[in-house]
Amino acid sequence: MKNFDLSDKISGSVSKVSAYVPGEQPQGDGWIKLNTNEFPYPPSPLAREALLAEIGSDASKLRLYPDPVSSRLRGAIGKYFGVDANCVMAANGSDDALNIAMRSFCDAKKSLASLDPSYSLYSVLAKIQGAEFIQIPFKDGFEIDFEKIFNCGANTFFFTNPNAPTGKGFPVETVEKIAGGFGGIVLVDEAYAPFADYSAARLVNKYPNLIVTGTTSKGWGLAGMRIGWAIANPEIIEVMDRVRDSYNLDRLAQAAGAAAMSDAQYYCKCVQEIKNTRRITEQFFDSLGWRYIKSSANFILFTPKKNGVESPETAADFVDFLRSKRILARYFASDPTVNMSIRLSIGLPEQMQAVMDAATQWAGIKK
Ligand code: PMP
Repeated sequence: MKNFDLSDKISGSVSKVSAYVPGEQPQGDGWIKLNTNEFPYPPSPLAREALLAEIGSDASKLRLYPDPVSSRLRGAIGKYFGVDANCVMAANGSDDALNIAMRSFCDAKKSLASLDPSYSLYSVLAKIQGAEFIQIPFKDGFEIDFEKIFNCGANTFFFTNPNAPTGKGFPVETVEKIAGGFGGIVLVDEAYAPFADYSAARLVNKYPNLIVTGTTSKGWGLAGMRIGWAIANPEIIEVMDRVRDSYNLDRLAQAAGAAAMSDAQYYCKCVQEIKNTRRITEQFFDSLGWRYIKSSANFILFTPKKNGVESPETAADFVDFLRSKRILARYFASDPTVNMSIRLSIGLPEQMQAVMDAATQWAGIKK
């Protein structure tokens, strides 16, 4: 074997990247898992039926490649959002859609911008692509500084709406203002839009620079299947189609996704339940006098307080305490914009009751 030094062989941009670290996915049962914003209800029963039908009696269909353009799924996504199927690209989770957009529109000369904080995957994708990543701070109260966005000089702007990790949502008019005023591609990451009352998807017919991404991971109970999408005008879809894997969704994901997205009644019922549970959780934080950001998502970013103190140490202590009760929440220790706070997914009512009991005990509040 000749001398071989792996570090010398890694591509220049990848050698500088640390992998994105997703929230913990514990193996084994018995956890109340409120750290990665999954849907707490099972997917539509129609998804299960479609999966079983696709597998059939001998799984023989799995010999064959899936539909390369995910026609039925794209049709179902288009119908749900009221756009043409040719405005939709199906993806292997919305992370795949973000990655495809990044590879399509960013490089060493074409930079990416997003608000700070936003979904932390963006910076990893930009680094892999060798693209500069520009972070634009929010104004007080996590309000948007539009002029900073318009003047940032980036080629592409990723706008997480509702925001992660704050949960704060912005109306469609905000998207219109950004899409109309920013000279480059505007991608609205709507992973959490199922829990807000709006989507910017239809605006793609009006703004040729707009891409709206979404996922069945948060809203439809199918995080385990990896189904996402990008909605944009057909010219943008054609560019992204050049970049994506030719069979980027497997047969089972296509079947389950199309079925789940056609069952609006079941979906709306579950989303309404989650919104009710979110309201009850917010009322509980009000009763403790703990601060939180009013959420348009299926999670709440709240600031725990003990003996009148809010601090990163207090937040870390409460996360550890929850963990000792086998409750997982997400804490971003190294992000100074949110490290006094904890991001808690909205689970089933009984799971949130367990959190409330733990909070009362931890804070030493007598009931
Ligand atoms: N966007 C945001 C803001 C997210 O929080 C996530 C989940 N981590 C995603 C996109 C990706 O979700 P998925 O790949 O499961 O569709």
